[in-house]
Amino acid sequence: MIELVQIEKHFSGQVVVHPLSLTIKEGEFLTLLGPSGCGKTTILRMIAGFEQPTDGDIFLDGQKVTNLSPNRRDLNLVFQHYALFPHMTVEENIAFGLKMKKTPPSQQKERVEEALKMTQLTQLTKRYPHELSGGQQQRVAIARAIANKPKVLLLDEPLGALDLQLRKSLQTELKQLQRSLGITFIYVTHDQEEAMMLSDRIVIMNNGQVEQIGTPREIYETPRTLFAATFIGENNIFSSDGRLFAVRPENIRVVREINKASRKGTVQDIVYLGNVHKLIVQLDDEPMNVTAALDFADDRTWQIGEKVGVSWNPLHEVMVGS
Ligand code: ATP
Repeated sequence: MIELVQIEKHFSGQVVVHPLSLTIKEGEFLTLLGPSGCGKTTILRMIAGFEQPTDGDIFLDGQKVTNLSPNRRDLNLVFQHYALFPHMTVEENIAFGLKMKKTPPSQQKERVEEALKMTQLTQLTKRYPHELSGGQQQRVAIARAIANKPKVLLLDEPLGALDLQLRKSLQTELKQLQRSLGITFIYVTHDQEEAMMLSDRIVIMNNGQVEQIGTPREIYETPRTLFAATFIGENNIFSSDGRLFAVRPENIRVVREINKASRKGTVQDIVYLGNVHKLIVQLDDEPMNVTAALDFADDRTWQIGEKVGVSWNPLHEVMVGS
């Protein structure tokens, strides 16, 4: 559906996106995830046509679009700071793109109604943007983008400006919407949890380079690099005999009966998070802390300063590159 072939981007001689090749399947929810400044938006802007790659090519449905202007590509964009027209109602905002494309009026009406229904805005059609909450405005921006029925929707931190609760409920809605429409979504976020929850596949970026591409599960269970291992969820990183491996907190066992197999340590902190307790254990013979996640059912009360043993099944050691 979308093919990026060795695309790269330089700004003033500086490499912002290193050569990247990626095939995005039809109907896929693909997320570009990484810290601020790693090049996510630049990749999205190259796919949209607002930015030309310094090198490489972009194909949409087998057609080379590398040099096509944005309006000649069958895709739509939703930004974090959605620019709704303040003097237009919800309905008019949604119809705007269809008018520009000279869609016949009867079809316009039908598409607007459908988009309103899908984004649960049917009660608000006559309102102006300033009469809407942030979440409702964001829904209008999404409705406007899907009304055109693009093959691909590019979303750049679309929920970034919303508070946590609203963000969570819109995440669920967005995922359902994407499933029911079957549109390919390319989504940019720096929020790991959001990426895990929404995506079919995640591209983890760091400093303009891809660290790993995989399903949320693949990345969580078998992170390839140190960056991927620590950026998605928590990990304990051990380095011994020249090898570097990661063990997730939920795979660390903490016991009072210290035996040969366990490393000795001292409980340094206890963090209560509702569904889990986290124990931070300072190892006696290594200058590092180990984080263990304890099941809620584990009702032993641990004491700060207590001597404990820490162990894990070697099967849970995941090799990572530096
Ligand atoms: P954020 O999450 O903060 O939006 P990002 O991962 O989307 O970050 P980009 O916006 O793609 O990052 O920027 C990547 C790098 O390219 C940054 O260092 C940025 O300063 C630089 N950059 C982006 N656009 C330009 C430009 N037009 N001219 C020069 N440098 C730019």
